Amino acid sequence: MRIKLDRTLCDGFSRCAELAPGAFSLDDWGYASLKGDGTVAPADESKVRRALLDCPVHAIQEHPGRPGAAG
Ligand code: SF4
Repeated sequence: MRIKLDRTLCDGFSRCAELAPGAFSLDDWGYASLKGDGTVAPADESKVRRALLDCPVHAIQEHPGRPGAAG
């Protein structure tokens, strides 16, 4: 599973990093960034799916590409 995060949509609710701290980090204002290139470790997938559904502004989306593929 691979995800992308639209930081222009992120409103700093920090739900993603609370739910899946392995996949998201927060800056000093609570805005999220992806850790790494968005490839999600299998063990984190259920947490990340939860974050994806819980993000109030739908800033997180599953990337259609294969993990590790360019783009
Ligand atoms: S849950 Fe959504 S709005 Fe909140 S920090 Fe994460 S990406 Fe941003």
